[in-house]
Amino acid sequence: MNPVRLRAHIRGAVQGVGFRPYIYLLASEFGLSGFVINTPQGVVVESEGETAQVEAFLRTLPERRPPLSLIDRIEIEHIPLQGGHGFEIRQSEASGDPAALIMADIATCADCLRELRDPADRRYRYPFLNCTHCGPRFTILERLPYDRPNTAMKRFAMCAVCRAEYENPRDRRFHAQPVACPACGPQLALWDADGKTCSERDQALAEAAQAIRDGRIVAVKGLGGFHLMADARNRNAVLRLRARKRREEKPFAMMYPHLDRVLEDCVVGDVERRLLESPECPIVLLARRADATAIAEEVAPGAPRFGVMLPATPLHHLLMEALGFPVVATSGNLSEEPICIDEHEARRRLGGIAECFLVHDRPIVRHADDSIAHVVRGRAALLRRARGYAPLPVRVGEDGPPTAAFGGHLKNTVAVSKQDRVFLSQHIGDLETTQAFDAFLEAGAALRRLYAIDPVLVACDSHPDYLSARHARGLGLPVVEVQHHYAHVLACMAEHGLPGPVLGVAWDGTGHGPDGTVWGGEFLRAERGGYVRVARVRPFPLPGGDAAVREPRRAAQGLLYALWGGDAVDCANHAPGRAFEDHERKAVRRMLERGVNAPMTSSAGRLFDGAAAICGLRMRNAYEGQAAMLFEYAARRAGPPQGRYRLSLREADGLLELDWAAMVAAIVEDAAAGRAVEAIASEFHDALARGILEVARHVGLPEVVLGGGCFQNALLTEWTADRLEGAGFRVFWPEQVPANDGGIALGQTLHAMRCAQT
Ligand code: ZN
Ligand code: ZN
Ligand code: FE
Repeated sequence: MNPVRLRAHIRGAVQGVGFRPYIYLLASEFGLSGFVINTPQGVVVESEGETAQVEAFLRTLPERRPPLSLIDRIEIEHIPLQGGHGFEIRQSEASGDPAALIMADIATCADCLRELRDPADRRYRYPFLNCTHCGPRFTILERLPYDRPNTAMKRFAMCAVCRAEYENPRDRRFHAQPVACPACGPQLALWDADGKTCSERDQALAEAAQAIRDGRIVAVKGLGGFHLMADARNRNAVLRLRARKRREEKPFAMMYPHLDRVLEDCVVGDVERRLLESPECPIVLLARRADATAIAEEVAPGAPRFGVMLPATPLHHLLMEALGFPVVATSGNLSEEPICIDEHEARRRLGGIAECFLVHDRPIVRHADDSIAHVVRGRAALLRRARGYAPLPVRVGEDGPPTAAFGGHLKNTVAVSKQDRVFLSQHIGDLETTQAFDAFLEAGAALRRLYAIDPVLVACDSHPDYLSARHARGLGLPVVEVQHHYAHVLACMAEHGLPGPVLGVAWDGTGHGPDGTVWGGEFLRAERGGYVRVARVRPFPLPGGDAAVREPRRAAQGLLYALWGGDAVDCANHAPGRAFEDHERKAVRRMLERGVNAPMTSSAGRLFDGAAAICGLRMRNAYEGQAAMLFEYAARRAGPPQGRYRLSLREADGLLELDWAAMVAAIVEDAAAGRAVEAIASEFHDALARGILEVARHVGLPEVVLGGGCFQNALLTEWTADRLEGAGFRVFWPEQVPANDGGIALGQTLHAMRCAQT
């Protein structure tokens, strides 16, 4: 006999995933005594028995762990024997340091779906069923540890049957905090536009489905906020939703009843399919099939891709099963405001949009929009990181002091760090409204509160006027300002664990450059201590400044002016010229000639806009990035490029410059000659990819990191990576965090952590 008692401290995503019952069953299997307990740091297991048995138990523990759990670290210590019989699950401790990982929300699991559809089950058709393997987490959590009294479920007293399941370690619902059933849990109601209850429970669901079938717009309270839903096949309903939501052309996402129905409309590869069916259940961008004629064109006008998701909650499964056809499922908000989470607030804010409200009485503690993903070179890449992913951390491979980062201005996210982990908030949105700014403050406060992180320094963008940066500077803590494009590159380096030096290619619309110009087509030699700008896209003026972001015709005029001067601008021989009234065109010329309200920019995003406008594709953007997106889509329709355009490398101001002059001149000529926009767009993408390769060859660093909003363009990313890899470079692009400004809080955090070390 050689008994031993070991205490194991397990850190990682080990709460809310059925970890303790797993430990209980495993310990029982090995005949051990002891206990398991949730602590704010993770899980502690004390196990006592024969040495060989205890060791086998601890060896097996990580191997058979529950599918959604993640083990970061196990620390084991020997402690005195205590004897005793049996293994138990103890009540949670509330003290200490809440470094235990908070789980993201998890889509309904297969077992729960079976119960949902089983008439003999007591949870048959219950829209809030869940278990330790699935259900709400982050969106119901008020504080750690993750126990029912600390969640939005505290107001629902468990019935005797649920309580028995909750307390039985052999039950799938053992300590499933949101456990509920029709007898004791949340319930549905259908409200009319005035907030009057029309029906409840299953009847409410049936009537909401009928309303959608009848072509009405229904606001549906989901997991992380409200969706506005309408029949995606009904042109009038979709148009009404567009008009009321003040969203002219930006594609709407859709929810499909099941995968088979998605296959009728979209091309779904293996990776896409895995994403659609994953526990994170994001919106996935899928190529639409040419014969997908049932969907109203107004859902995604002119777009060759649909944003598609499958139901993530039992409520959505039931609703979609009742409908059997795809619905538009767009965030319940006005244009770019944050998504609504409370039914009373929804009635105020969405009252002019929705005709009725399918609501329930389980509060949403914090908003989480649907995440958006697409597939780039066979790998999933997030375009918006929210439900299902936030607030899981990105491990950056190095330690630093607790840091708070405040992101950018558009598509804002914030972050806090603890040791080597950066907790990135869910997508917040553009900080253009007071609601968005409040959500920004709240998201940051929630991360700090939940993880009990007291930042000792803050990181923000170096832009003098970003609200996020101003807020950061006002906190009274040491501030590290991080250049926008360096932050893009660092974010990608962080997720791939690259120490540098790398060649960072940061291409986006706009970022504040330390020389006072607008940056956006940057090549940075990036490493631990900082960066050197080694090359840029040749700068050009942007007549009208910010107005040029909305009007690609202005970027085009800036390019033409830089090439040929004022006469080329004040001329109606090309599409951007014709897009202005005579007097406007003269005003644009004056701005350019006097250099007033015509800031210089090296923005690759604006180069895309300008080229698209010269082809007559789009003169004004109905939503951010529209012209560039349509240009990408045009290129996808073309045959393979012939290498017709070429960017040249030249030296200017002590920098390498990627010069677009010959290419833009050729585009003007080709457009005038009536060459198809598809062919021009394809050659344009090809020229950029080859241009990046030329810079990479010149710089000579073997690792190249892509970042910035331009690399949301999958075609540009693929062609660039193909070229670079073909020439022997190793290429990295953003996958876990968005390429757009939604990722820069991660890069900011990493830089600030490092600054504090040196
Ligand atoms: Zn489940
Ligand atoms: Zn119950
Ligand atoms: Fe950016």
